[in-house]
Amino acid sequence: MAYRFEFRPYQRRFRQPVRTHHGEWQVRQGLILKLTDENGHSGYGEVAPLPWFGSETFDQALAFCQQLPSQLSDQAVPSLLPTLPACQFGLESVFANLERRLSPIDLPNAQCGVLLPRGQEALDNWQQFWKKGHRIFKCKIGVDSVAAEMDWLEQLLGQLPFGAKLRLDANGGLNELAARQWLDWCDRNGQRIEFLEQPLPPNAFDTLMRLSYRYRTPIALDESIASLEQLKAHFHRGWDGIYVIKASIMGSPHRLQHFYHKYPIDVVISSVFETAVGRQALIRLAIDLAMVYPDIPHRALGLGTQQWFPNDGLSQTDWPQLWQQLD
Ligand SMILES: [Mg+2]
Repeated sequence: MAYRFEFRPYQRRFRQPVRTHHGEWQVRQGLILKLTDENGHSGYGEVAPLPWFGSETFDQALAFCQQLPSQLSDQAVPSLLPTLPACQFGLESVFANLERRLSPIDLPNAQCGVLLPRGQEALDNWQQFWKKGHRIFKCKIGVDSVAAEMDWLEQLLGQLPFGAKLRLDANGGLNELAARQWLDWCDRNGQRIEFLEQPLPPNAFDTLMRLSYRYRTPIALDESIASLEQLKAHFHRGWDGIYVIKASIMGSPHRLQHFYHKYPIDVVISSVFETAVGRQALIRLAIDLAMVYPDIPHRALGLGTQQWFPNDGLSQTDWPQLWQQLD
Protein backbone atom coordinates (compact mmCIF):
# COMPACT_ATOMS: atom_id res chain seq x y z
CA MET A 1 0.00 0.00 0.00
CA ALA A 2 1.24 3.50 -0.85
CA TYR A 3 0.71 6.48 1.40
CA ARG A 4 0.99 10.20 0.82
CA PHE A 5 3.71 11.59 3.05
CA GLU A 6 3.90 15.22 4.20
CA PHE A 7 5.80 17.01 6.90
CA ARG A 8 5.79 20.48 8.45
CA PRO A 9 8.47 21.99 10.67
CA TYR A 10 7.52 23.75 13.89
CA GLN A 11 9.26 26.17 16.21
CA ARG A 12 8.12 26.84 19.76
CA ARG A 13 9.69 29.40 22.02
CA PHE A 14 9.53 28.39 25.68
CA ARG A 15 7.66 30.78 27.96
CA GLN A 16 10.94 30.98 29.81
CA PRO A 17 14.18 29.20 28.90
CA VAL A 18 14.64 25.70 30.29
CA ARG A 19 17.73 25.93 32.48
CA THR A 20 19.69 22.75 33.07
CA HIS A 21 23.32 21.74 33.36
CA HIS A 22 23.31 21.55 29.53
CA GLY A 23 22.64 25.30 29.38
CA GLU A 24 19.66 27.47 28.47
CA TRP A 25 17.18 26.14 25.96
CA GLN A 26 15.06 28.83 24.28
CA VAL A 27 13.33 27.30 21.26
CA ARG A 28 12.06 23.78 20.59
CA GLN A 29 12.24 22.84 16.92
CA GLY A 30 10.81 19.70 15.41
CA LEU A 31 8.70 18.26 12.62
CA ILE A 32 5.15 16.98 12.41
CA LEU A 33 4.67 14.11 9.96
CA LYS A 34 1.41 13.29 8.23
CA LEU A 35 0.58 10.14 6.35
CA THR A 36 -2.61 9.69 4.32
CA ASP A 37 -3.84 6.39 2.92
CA GLU A 38 -5.79 5.75 -0.29
CA ASN A 39 -9.09 6.13 1.57
CA GLY A 40 -8.18 9.59 2.81
CA HIS A 41 -7.50 8.59 6.42
CA SER A 42 -4.57 10.40 8.02
CA GLY A 43 -2.15 9.62 10.82
CA TYR A 44 0.35 11.92 12.54
CA GLY A 45 3.79 11.53 14.04
CA GLU A 46 6.48 13.78 15.42
CA VAL A 47 10.24 14.11 15.06
CA ALA A 48 11.62 15.87 18.15
CA PRO A 49 15.43 15.74 18.08
CA LEU A 50 17.65 16.42 21.10
CA PRO A 51 21.20 16.63 19.75
CA TRP A 52 22.88 17.23 23.13
CA PHE A 53 21.57 13.79 24.08
CA GLY A 54 23.18 12.32 20.98
CA SER A 55 20.24 12.36 18.55
CA GLU A 56 20.37 13.91 15.09
CA THR A 57 20.01 17.70 14.86
CA PHE A 58 16.88 19.43 13.63
CA ASP A 59 18.66 20.25 10.34
CA GLN A 60 19.61 16.60 9.81
CA ALA A 61 16.03 15.52 10.52
CA LEU A 62 14.70 18.16 8.13
CA ALA A 63 17.16 17.10 5.41
CA PHE A 64 16.11 13.49 5.88
CA CYS A 65 12.40 14.31 5.55
CA GLN A 66 13.05 16.50 2.50
CA GLN A 67 14.64 13.64 0.59
CA LEU A 68 11.82 11.17 1.37
CA PRO A 69 9.44 10.60 -1.54
CA SER A 70 5.94 12.02 -1.26
CA GLN A 71 4.60 8.47 -1.74
CA LEU A 72 5.76 6.09 0.99
CA SER A 73 5.26 2.40 1.53
CA ASP A 74 5.50 0.86 5.00
CA GLN A 75 8.62 -1.00 3.86
CA ALA A 76 10.46 2.33 3.97
CA VAL A 77 10.62 2.37 7.75
CA PRO A 78 12.87 -0.47 8.95
CA SER A 79 15.71 0.56 6.63
CA LEU A 80 16.37 3.81 8.54
CA LEU A 81 19.84 4.53 9.83
CA PRO A 82 20.50 4.32 13.58
CA THR A 83 22.00 7.82 13.29
CA LEU A 84 18.47 9.20 12.88
CA PRO A 85 16.71 7.93 16.02
CA ALA A 86 14.20 10.79 16.27
CA CYS A 87 13.21 10.30 12.61
CA GLN A 88 12.91 6.56 13.18
CA PHE A 89 10.58 7.16 16.12
CA GLY A 90 8.51 9.71 14.18
CA LEU A 91 8.11 7.52 11.10
CA GLU A 92 7.23 4.39 13.03
CA SER A 93 4.73 6.40 15.08
CA VAL A 94 3.05 7.93 12.04
CA PHE A 95 2.45 4.48 10.53
CA ALA A 96 1.19 3.12 13.86
CA ASN A 97 -1.07 6.14 14.34
CA LEU A 98 -2.63 5.66 10.92
CA GLU A 99 -3.04 1.91 11.26
CA ARG A 100 -4.45 1.84 14.77
CA ARG A 101 -6.71 4.88 14.37
CA LEU A 102 -7.01 5.38 18.10
CA SER A 103 -8.57 8.51 19.52
CA PRO A 104 -6.32 10.68 21.66
CA ILE A 105 -6.47 9.95 25.35
CA ASP A 106 -5.48 12.08 28.28
CA LEU A 107 -3.25 11.08 31.11
CA PRO A 108 -4.61 11.46 34.66
CA ASN A 109 -2.52 14.17 36.33
CA ALA A 110 -1.75 11.84 39.23
CA GLN A 111 0.18 9.72 36.73
CA CYS A 112 2.07 12.66 35.30
CA GLY A 113 5.14 14.23 36.91
CA VAL A 114 5.38 17.94 36.31
CA LEU A 115 8.57 19.91 35.65
CA LEU A 116 8.78 22.98 37.90
CA PRO A 117 10.82 26.08 37.15
CA ARG A 118 13.81 26.67 39.40
CA GLY A 119 14.22 28.69 42.57
CA GLN A 120 11.58 31.11 43.79
CA GLU A 121 9.40 30.32 40.78
CA ALA A 122 9.09 26.70 41.91
CA LEU A 123 7.78 27.99 45.24
CA ASP A 124 5.29 30.23 43.42
CA ASN A 125 4.12 27.56 40.97
CA TRP A 126 3.77 24.14 42.58
CA GLN A 127 0.37 24.88 44.10
CA GLN A 128 -1.52 25.23 40.80
CA PHE A 129 -0.26 21.77 39.76
CA TRP A 130 -1.05 20.20 43.12
CA LYS A 131 -4.63 21.49 42.78
CA LYS A 132 -4.89 19.79 39.38
CA GLY A 133 -3.88 16.47 40.92
CA HIS A 134 -0.15 16.28 40.18
CA ARG A 135 1.81 14.61 42.98
CA ILE A 136 5.26 14.24 41.44
CA PHE A 137 7.33 17.39 40.99
CA LYS A 138 10.55 17.45 39.07
CA CYS A 139 13.29 20.01 39.69
CA LYS A 140 16.53 20.60 37.83
CA ILE A 141 19.67 20.87 39.96
CA GLY A 142 23.38 21.11 39.16
CA VAL A 143 23.06 24.64 37.78
CA ASP A 144 23.94 26.80 40.84
CA SER A 145 25.89 25.93 43.99
CA VAL A 146 24.76 22.94 46.06
CA ALA A 147 24.06 25.21 49.03
CA ALA A 148 21.87 27.62 47.03
CA GLU A 149 19.89 24.80 45.42
CA MET A 150 19.40 22.93 48.68
CA ASP A 151 18.15 26.16 50.18
CA TRP A 152 15.23 26.56 47.76
CA LEU A 153 14.47 22.85 47.75
CA GLU A 154 14.30 22.85 51.56
CA GLN A 155 11.78 25.67 51.26
CA LEU A 156 9.85 23.77 48.64
CA LEU A 157 9.74 20.61 50.76
CA GLY A 158 8.55 22.77 53.65
CA GLN A 159 5.57 23.87 51.56
CA LEU A 160 4.65 20.65 49.77
CA PRO A 161 1.79 18.69 51.35
CA PHE A 162 2.10 15.10 52.47
CA GLY A 163 1.90 12.82 49.43
CA ALA A 164 3.97 15.02 47.14
CA LYS A 165 7.32 13.71 45.95
CA LEU A 166 10.31 15.28 44.30
CA ARG A 167 12.37 14.03 41.42
CA LEU A 168 15.72 15.79 41.25
CA ASP A 169 17.56 15.89 37.94
CA ALA A 170 21.22 16.96 37.81
CA ASN A 171 21.62 16.26 34.08
CA GLY A 172 25.07 14.78 34.77
CA GLY A 173 26.27 18.09 36.20
CA LEU A 174 27.63 17.08 39.63
CA ASN A 175 31.04 15.82 40.69
CA GLU A 176 31.30 12.90 43.08
CA LEU A 177 31.51 15.08 46.19
CA ALA A 178 28.41 17.08 45.22
CA ALA A 179 26.59 13.87 44.29
CA ARG A 180 27.28 12.51 47.78
CA GLN A 181 26.07 15.74 49.37
CA TRP A 182 22.86 15.50 47.38
CA LEU A 183 22.35 11.82 48.14
CA ASP A 184 22.89 12.47 51.85
CA TRP A 185 20.31 15.25 51.61
CA CYS A 186 17.90 12.98 49.72
CA ASP A 187 18.33 10.15 52.24
CA ARG A 188 17.63 12.59 55.07
CA ASN A 189 14.37 13.51 53.36
CA GLY A 190 13.52 9.85 52.88
CA GLN A 191 10.21 9.07 51.22
CA ARG A 192 9.74 12.61 49.98
CA ILE A 193 12.39 12.15 47.30
CA GLU A 194 11.42 9.68 44.61
CA PHE A 195 14.85 9.57 42.99
CA LEU A 196 17.94 11.50 41.96
CA GLU A 197 18.41 11.52 38.21
CA GLN A 198 21.79 11.38 36.48
CA PRO A 199 23.95 12.93 39.24
CA LEU A 200 27.18 12.21 37.31
CA PRO A 201 28.01 12.25 33.61
CA PRO A 202 27.56 9.09 31.53
CA ASN A 203 31.27 8.21 31.64
CA ALA A 204 31.11 7.75 35.44
CA PHE A 205 29.25 4.45 35.35
CA ASP A 206 31.33 2.67 38.02
CA THR A 207 30.87 5.54 40.47
CA LEU A 208 27.14 5.70 39.71
CA MET A 209 26.94 1.98 40.46
CA ARG A 210 28.82 2.45 43.74
CA LEU A 211 26.59 5.34 44.81
CA SER A 212 23.47 3.36 43.98
CA TYR A 213 24.54 0.65 46.47
CA ARG A 214 25.59 3.13 49.11
CA TYR A 215 22.46 5.27 49.40
CA ARG A 216 18.81 4.49 49.98
CA THR A 217 17.58 7.10 47.51
CA PRO A 218 17.24 5.44 44.10
CA ILE A 219 19.34 6.77 41.24
CA ALA A 220 17.91 7.10 37.74
CA LEU A 221 19.93 7.13 34.53
CA ASP A 222 18.94 9.42 31.68
CA GLU A 223 21.87 10.89 29.68
CA SER A 224 23.68 7.54 30.16
CA ILE A 225 20.96 5.68 28.26
CA ALA A 226 19.90 8.12 25.56
CA SER A 227 19.90 5.43 22.88
CA LEU A 228 18.50 1.91 22.94
CA GLU A 229 22.02 0.52 22.45
CA GLN A 230 23.26 2.43 25.52
CA LEU A 231 20.23 1.28 27.50
CA LYS A 232 20.95 -2.36 26.66
CA ALA A 233 24.65 -1.93 27.47
CA HIS A 234 23.82 -0.51 30.91
CA PHE A 235 21.32 -3.26 31.58
CA HIS A 236 23.83 -5.94 30.71
CA ARG A 237 26.49 -4.25 32.85
CA GLY A 238 24.14 -4.69 35.79
CA TRP A 239 22.32 -1.40 36.28
CA ASP A 240 19.31 -2.24 38.40
CA GLY A 241 18.21 1.30 39.24
CA ILE A 242 15.73 3.42 37.33
CA TYR A 243 15.83 4.05 33.59
CA VAL A 244 14.50 7.36 32.26
CA ILE A 245 13.35 6.66 28.72
CA LYS A 246 13.15 9.49 26.24
CA ALA A 247 11.46 7.31 23.68
CA SER A 248 11.23 10.12 21.10
CA ILE A 249 14.98 9.99 20.58
CA MET A 250 15.46 6.25 21.08
CA GLY A 251 14.63 5.07 17.60
CA SER A 252 12.15 2.29 16.98
CA PRO A 253 9.42 2.12 19.66
CA HIS A 254 8.81 -1.45 18.51
CA ARG A 255 12.37 -2.47 19.40
CA LEU A 256 12.09 -0.66 22.73
CA GLN A 257 8.91 -2.57 23.53
CA HIS A 258 10.54 -5.82 22.53
CA PHE A 259 13.41 -5.19 24.96
CA TYR A 260 11.07 -4.17 27.77
CA HIS A 261 8.86 -7.22 27.35
CA LYS A 262 11.93 -9.39 27.70
CA TYR A 263 13.44 -7.41 30.59
CA PRO A 264 10.79 -5.41 32.50
CA ILE A 265 13.15 -2.80 33.97
CA ASP A 266 12.11 0.07 36.27
CA VAL A 267 11.15 2.75 33.76
CA VAL A 268 10.07 6.38 33.66
CA ILE A 269 8.78 7.36 30.22
CA SER A 270 9.91 10.92 29.75
CA SER A 271 9.25 13.90 27.51
CA VAL A 272 11.70 15.84 25.35
CA PHE A 273 9.18 18.71 25.10
CA GLU A 274 7.12 17.24 22.26
CA THR A 275 3.89 18.72 20.91
CA ALA A 276 0.63 16.85 21.57
CA VAL A 277 1.45 14.54 18.64
CA GLY A 278 4.63 13.16 20.21
CA ARG A 279 3.01 13.19 23.62
CA GLN A 280 0.20 10.90 22.41
CA ALA A 281 2.75 8.49 20.94
CA LEU A 282 4.43 8.34 24.37
CA ILE A 283 1.14 7.79 26.21
CA ARG A 284 0.31 4.97 23.78
CA LEU A 285 3.72 3.46 24.31
CA ALA A 286 3.25 3.60 28.07
CA ILE A 287 -0.14 1.93 27.76
CA ASP A 288 1.29 -0.78 25.53
CA LEU A 289 4.04 -1.48 28.02
CA ALA A 290 1.73 -1.53 31.03
CA MET A 291 -0.80 -3.83 29.35
CA VAL A 292 1.71 -6.63 29.26
CA TYR A 293 2.60 -6.47 32.95
CA PRO A 294 -0.49 -4.96 34.58
CA ASP A 295 0.60 -6.29 38.00
CA ILE A 296 3.78 -4.21 38.05
CA PRO A 297 3.24 -0.76 39.56
CA HIS A 298 4.43 2.02 37.29
CA ARG A 299 6.06 5.30 38.01
CA ALA A 300 4.37 8.53 37.00
CA LEU A 301 5.28 9.47 33.44
CA GLY A 302 7.61 12.42 32.99
CA LEU A 303 5.27 14.20 30.61
CA GLY A 304 4.28 17.32 32.55
CA THR A 305 6.02 19.84 30.30
CA GLN A 306 3.26 21.45 28.18
CA GLN A 307 2.96 24.40 30.55
CA TRP A 308 6.43 25.48 29.39
CA PHE A 309 4.97 26.55 26.03
CA PRO A 310 2.67 29.43 25.13
CA ASN A 311 -0.79 28.69 23.83
CA ASP A 312 0.24 28.16 20.20
CA GLY A 313 -2.23 25.43 19.22
CA LEU A 314 0.38 22.66 19.25
CA SER A 315 -0.71 21.20 22.58
CA GLN A 316 -4.19 20.29 21.29
CA THR A 317 -5.19 16.81 20.19
CA ASP A 318 -7.40 17.89 17.29
CA TRP A 319 -4.84 16.77 14.70
CA PRO A 320 -6.25 18.49 11.58
CA GLN A 321 -6.40 21.77 13.52
CA LEU A 322 -2.91 21.30 14.85
CA TRP A 323 -1.70 20.60 11.30
CA GLN A 324 -3.33 23.82 10.08
CA GLN A 325 -1.44 25.84 12.71
CA LEU A 326 1.73 24.91 10.86
CA ASP A 327 0.60 26.03 7.44
MG1 LIG B 1 16.88 13.98 32.85
